[in-house]
Amino acid sequence: MKNCPYCKIEVGGNLKKCPLCQSKLNGDGERPYFPKQTTLQIQSFFYKIQLFIVWVVVIMSGGLDFMFGLRVWPGLHIHWSLIVAMWLIVFEFGIMRLFKRGISSSRIMTMFVMLVLVMLLVTSYYIGFFFIVAEWVCPIVIMGTIIANFVLAMIDKSGNSMVYLLTNLIVGIFPYIVFHFTERDCPIAWIVCLLVSVILFVGAVIFKGREVVSEIQRRLNV
Ligand SMILES: [Zn+2]
Repeated sequence: MKNCPYCKIEVGGNLKKCPLCQSKLNGDGERPYFPKQTTLQIQSFFYKIQLFIVWVVVIMSGGLDFMFGLRVWPGLHIHWSLIVAMWLIVFEFGIMRLFKRGISSSRIMTMFVMLVLVMLLVTSYYIGFFFIVAEWVCPIVIMGTIIANFVLAMIDKSGNSMVYLLTNLIVGIFPYIVFHFTERDCPIAWIVCLLVSVILFVGAVIFKGREVVSEIQRRLNV
C-alpha cells in the first residue's frame, strides 16, 4: 500500500499523488480500485461518431436545399432538408433512449414504431403516397407490434402484462374510433388490426388473467 509522508495516511490502489495534499506518494501501488471501463468508452466513441455524422448530414442537406435550391423530389411543396432533419432528430432521440438502462424492450419497441409511423405519415403526406402508408403500411406494422407485445407479455416474468395489454388494446381500437367519428369507411387492414388486437387481448386475459388482476390490485391498493 502507498503512503503519504506528509499526511501520514495510507492510500490504497495505484494513485500517484496524495488525495489530501497532492504530494507524491511513497511505497508500492496495488491493483487499481476502479478498472478501466472499456465498453463504456467504446460506446461513447461510437455515440460521438454517429452524432457527428448526423450533424454533417443535417448541415449539408440544409445547405444544398436552402442555399443551392437543390430539388430531390418533383412536386415537393416543402423544403426536403426539413424532412431529413426531422428523421435524424427522432433517430437521435431513439439512440439516447437506447443508451438509458432500465426501460423495458416492449416500451422501447412500441415507442419507436409509433414515432417512425408518425414520421412516415408526415413524409408521405408531402411526397404523395399518404394513403398507401395510412391504409396499409401503418396497420400492418402496428399488427406486428401488437403480436410482438403479446409474445413479450407471455414470456415476461416481472409482471408488466397489464401495460402490454392496455397498449395493444388502445393501438388496436383507436384507429377504428378515428375512422368512425370522421365518418369514413375503415380500411380492411385496420379492421384486421383491430380484430388481432381484441383476439390477443382475450388470449392474454385467459393465459395471464390472474397476473393482470393481481397487478391491478397492487397498483390500486385494493
Ligand atoms: Zn498527503
